[in-house]
Amino acid sequence: MMHTPHKSAYLEIIELAIERMKNGSTLLLLPDTRDIDRVLQSLEGKSVDFEVIRLDSSLPRAQRYENYLKVSIKGNVLVIGNRSALFAPIQNLTSIIVAFEKSEQYFERKHPYWNTRDSVFLRAKTENLNLYFTGYVPSSEMAFQIENRNISFITQKANLNTSAFPQMQGELLPDRIIPAIRKSLEKGTVLFLVPRKGYANALLCAKCRNIALCKCGARLLVSSQTSDPQCSVCSVSVKDWQCSWCAGTKRYVAARGIDRFHEEIGRAFPNTSIQLSSAPNILEEVAEKTKIVIATTGSIPGGSKEYSAVVLLEGQRFLAASSSRFEELVYESFFEAAAHVSEKGSVFIVLDAFHPLVAAITKWNPGLLIRKILRENEEAFLPPFSAVAVLTVEKQESVILKNGLAKSIKDGRLPTSSQVFLSQDAESDDARILVSVPSENRDVLAAFLLELSRKRAISKKSFVSIALDPFTLLR
Ligand SMILES: [Zn+2]
Ligand SMILES: [Zn+2]
Repeated sequence: MMHTPHKSAYLEIIELAIERMKNGSTLLLLPDTRDIDRVLQSLEGKSVDFEVIRLDSSLPRAQRYENYLKVSIKGNVLVIGNRSALFAPIQNLTSIIVAFEKSEQYFERKHPYWNTRDSVFLRAKTENLNLYFTGYVPSSEMAFQIENRNISFITQKANLNTSAFPQMQGELLPDRIIPAIRKSLEKGTVLFLVPRKGYANALLCAKCRNIALCKCGARLLVSSQTSDPQCSVCSVSVKDWQCSWCAGTKRYVAARGIDRFHEEIGRAFPNTSIQLSSAPNILEEVAEKTKIVIATTGSIPGGSKEYSAVVLLEGQRFLAASSSRFEELVYESFFEAAAHVSEKGSVFIVLDAFHPLVAAITKWNPGLLIRKILRENEEAFLPPFSAVAVLTVEKQESVILKNGLAKSIKDGRLPTSSQVFLSQDAESDDARILVSVPSENRDVLAAFLLELSRKRAISKKSFVSIALDPFTLLR
């Protein structure tokens, strides 16, 4: 289910949950405790004929245990929690809703690195449940299932009033955008969305603005202005980089922190009250007299405030995400921010007008964007077209392990089309090995890795940490 503009996503999630409760107990999963607070707050005014039980780590231990027992005894409950609530033994469970399915919070960052999406499908299969996923732009895994017609896509038609303002010299606010924003300030509050620092370090060509790709199809990253670009997957580094589209050699530079944004926006609109919202200081309520809110990705203030304009700054910089996984998140945050515009308001995007993002937001249809990511992932043999395991191992053992894996491919214990990459970082004692197989061979890879870690444990070899399809392949 794709969230609609001019409406609180939290309200839409609650409406879906109330609808599902007609059939029996429902489990509503949300990325973090702040989302749970917001949903519970929006639920307060509504009269419902079932019990709502919170189950997350923000509760005191005793309360949490009490709620855990309650959900296993009572027959008709709406359980609201974050990813670990997925394992609660809920009576008469008929539906699970995974809200904002793309969130990184749905991935356990420690061994055994389980993720909510895969686990939810497993539980749904054994218990015959209905599954719902919500968000603005489907994740590539979800989009892949939608393309294959395994999952239906629910969306409502909408049309937003958008304008694009291309950046000429890397300036934050192109000239023509300033009068447009000034007009919107007369009508209400304006929301600016800016990228988080350190978020985008993919290499971009300054001339044609294309993202530079490695020969293997993955993105090239740059750690500093002068360093050689390095591949995010196979870790090959490229000397004397040249753009493969236009043969340009100049790199696109930028990246400001939120304080720089505050300074420059403040200068363009003097005597205007500005509030910042950036993790960990996320605004819950926007003050009455505030005219401008500057928010970083993932930090848009709560509440159902509508803005007379939403300004998406540094579109190009945003889109230089270090992996397609982060590019998905960028699209999500653009749509999320745009959804906060009032019905008569406008969305201003600092980006070339022909970028497909502009039309996607205008028509409220992310299809083109997500298909572009799917095709890029297909070319680069990345999920959802492959299953990838990331093995972290002591450096001195990494070459032996890598050779062992290569031999397993040769001997047919792993599919012949499998790929193995070793990545060693000078600053770390550990090395990483990436093993990828076609997605239909995921079970073969999982069984192989289980066997591998068993054998290593028996022969008292050092521990290998294994993550199957982690949130991102980057360190
Ligand atoms: Zn170029
Ligand atoms: Zn590569």
